[in-house]
Amino acid sequence: SKNYLTCIKTNLLTILMFLAVVFGIALGFGLRQTGSWTPRQIMYVNYPGELFLRMLRCLILPLIVSSLVSAIGSLDIRLSGRIGARAVAYYLLTTILAIILGIILVVVIHPGAGNPDEIARSKKKAIVSTTEDTLMDLIRNMFPPNIIQACLQQFTTVLVPPNSVDNNEDVDNTTSSNMTEESNKYDWNISNKYSGGTNILGLVVFSVALGVTLAKMGEKGKPLLDVFVSLSDAIMIITKWVIWLSPLGVLFLIAAKILEMKDFSVVVGQLGMYTVTVLVGLFLHAIVTLPVLYSIATRSLPFKFISNMMQAVTTAFGTASSSATLPVTFTCLEDKNLVDTRVSRFCLPIGATINMDGTALYEAVAAIFIAQVRNVSLDAGKIIAISITSTAASVGAAGIPQAGLVTMVIVLNAVGLPAEDVTLIFLVDWFLDRFRTAINVLGDAIGAGIVAHLSREDLQKMDKEVDHQQQLV
Ligand code: ASP
Repeated sequence: SKNYLTCIKTNLLTILMFLAVVFGIALGFGLRQTGSWTPRQIMYVNYPGELFLRMLRCLILPLIVSSLVSAIGSLDIRLSGRIGARAVAYYLLTTILAIILGIILVVVIHPGAGNPDEIARSKKKAIVSTTEDTLMDLIRNMFPPNIIQACLQQFTTVLVPPNSVDNNEDVDNTTSSNMTEESNKYDWNISNKYSGGTNILGLVVFSVALGVTLAKMGEKGKPLLDVFVSLSDAIMIITKWVIWLSPLGVLFLIAAKILEMKDFSVVVGQLGMYTVTVLVGLFLHAIVTLPVLYSIATRSLPFKFISNMMQAVTTAFGTASSSATLPVTFTCLEDKNLVDTRVSRFCLPIGATINMDGTALYEAVAAIFIAQVRNVSLDAGKIIAISITSTAASVGAAGIPQAGLVTMVIVLNAVGLPAEDVTLIFLVDWFLDRFRTAINVLGDAIGAGIVAHLSREDLQKMDKEVDHQQQLV
């Protein structure tokens, strides 16, 4: 019974997180039974969750910058290059595998079959941009002109129809019918917009550059490097406090989301089958693709590693944001899976920003589903275009709720579908978002585990060299 107790103690938070998800769902449905809830009442239910989310999000910025700079700054350049190359190879491989799996499933299950009018088209705001604009914005955001501004805002290109007053408000009011008639968006006026939300990609690029520079500067860079090392350790300690609030936070976030939900009855027919297709894909990626890759790369079974990550996976499910989950992912990886901190602090911030397997799978499935509903046939060339643009869309999606829906524009445009067709999948997107975020986080963690395993000899060698030099001094 003593073993039993230690087991419960070490896994206490994981157990509490599972209970939080279950009770959150139960509480949400229970409260729904009591009648209809006003937005204000829902806000009260959400409040503890909101506080938890604010605490996590407060940690993201210092965590990403300090961990990247300190990890890369403490490695020698060649080793950073090797770790970086391994990580990028893993990200590409898993993203492509996820997309292929998604494409196979959506072609086989064919969720778009049936009466094309079954899904009511909602007249939501249209997203006004082209593939080129979206891709160019992605690269623009990598190079923020001002690092302080990058902490606050992202850059977006917005197209304004020639006949409207040049005003962002007008763009938002453009109705979808107006949009479909539009013949040549390329002639529209271009307006630059800075929207709220941290430009994490820009900060990642800057932090990598700073880390590499500090590593090159050697002794001269040491004082600044020490500041970042100390900052990242301090943030990790704060994270450990915040994490104890995660069960409560997740419980209320889920309960409030269920209260807020519209009627369920719409999710039948095509939309229901689409939801099932995405969920099956995500599930297979999590229980087959990723574990098999882990076993092959590390020659060990993945169960312990994955179960140690469950707290991060459930937080991702509760928050629908891989960035907000990042502090929890770090703690699980470093404290429970004992991954070398130089690898975790290097790989996790980059992974959470660009490696999104779940999002990539969903982008491909959604685009093909929309084509099926619209009766647009897709040849091999278009399927390849979908695969490539889904990869770009998953890299470009920020780690925030429903970011994937926005970058879907790239995928839809690439096969000639109108961007406003994303409205077809609006209704279920918040729901699928939670699952794909959970898979995104799991993919990042397994990636860091694999890279740490593959890099262990390099790291040991570096440690020995450092020891040796210290003895000489
Ligand atoms: N919510 C996802 C994430 O944070 C991104 C997406 O919308 O797919 O990982």
